[in-house]
Amino acid sequence: MSTTATNEYPVELEPVDITPYQTGNTGVDYVTSFDSGEPGPHVAVTAVVHGNELCGAITLDYLFQNDVRPLVGKLTLAFANHQAYHNFDPADPMSSRFVDEDFNRTWGLDVLDGDRDTAETRRARELRPVIDSVDYLLDLHSMQHKTPALMICGPHAKGQQFAKDLGTPEFIVSDEGHAAGKRMRDYGDFGNPDSPKNSLLLEAGQHWEENSAFVTVDTTLRFLKLLGVVDLDFGQEDHLELPDEQKLIEVSGPVTIKTDTFRFAEDYTGFEIIEDAGTILGWDGDDEVLTPYDDCVLIMPSKRLHKGQSAVRLGRLIG
Ligand SMILES: [Zn+2]
Repeated sequence: MSTTATNEYPVELEPVDITPYQTGNTGVDYVTSFDSGEPGPHVAVTAVVHGNELCGAITLDYLFQNDVRPLVGKLTLAFANHQAYHNFDPADPMSSRFVDEDFNRTWGLDVLDGDRDTAETRRARELRPVIDSVDYLLDLHSMQHKTPALMICGPHAKGQQFAKDLGTPEFIVSDEGHAAGKRMRDYGDFGNPDSPKNSLLLEAGQHWEENSAFVTVDTTLRFLKLLGVVDLDFGQEDHLELPDEQKLIEVSGPVTIKTDTFRFAEDYTGFEIIEDAGTILGWDGDDEVLTPYDDCVLIMPSKRLHKGQSAVRLGRLIG
């Protein structure tokens, strides 16, 4: 699968070999569970939901290499879209995001229970029973643009609180997800405000920047320590500095492209805060695209500016 978007960022990371983890021990390829034998939650860390996001694979490999074992409950490590990951080519790093479709839009019950047959729906159905039994999920991702890391916590208070309890990264983005289909993060009881199950999706920085792997490893260790899965002294010595204060951004909605000639007014990369309502963000055909409110935050502007897609998402900084 090739995309029309071009890449302007160097590929600093090297993909790790994940084939040693194919067999695993769960009966599902590329899924390994460690059971402590002690009571406790089922905690999962997932990587390569998008095949060209290397930092998650590096992080799971790091945990395996360091013989991670849960002190309580159960820990599952899963390489989600391993098929797309295996297609990664540093000479064309954009093209291995998925095989047939975005894996992270296949988690609606209509799709999981439906008859759409793609590499990604098959894999989602395979992973579903595993994810069904998970209490706390951290899903590791990276972004097209070189912007600060952010935690996507979903629309509910429980996700916002989980991101705050973790204490990093600086930016927390609270959103409903995408019209194009449900994310794994929002699946089942993760998306149910009355369930204690909880999930976070980390966007660790630009896809191939070296620092993104440091961010994912450090954040994953903090996640496991917060939940009591590993000892406080497990893992790397070097830690990211915690932000003094986290900033919560509530997404109001996407700017959905209506024509074939959408263009931005500036070369936005994300996290720009536009002071005044009514500022021109770009043009969709002949129409001006304006900021709807003061202090409007631009989140993950896309390079794939096609009709029907989201050009950018807009959010309010709420503290
Ligand atoms: Zn991703």
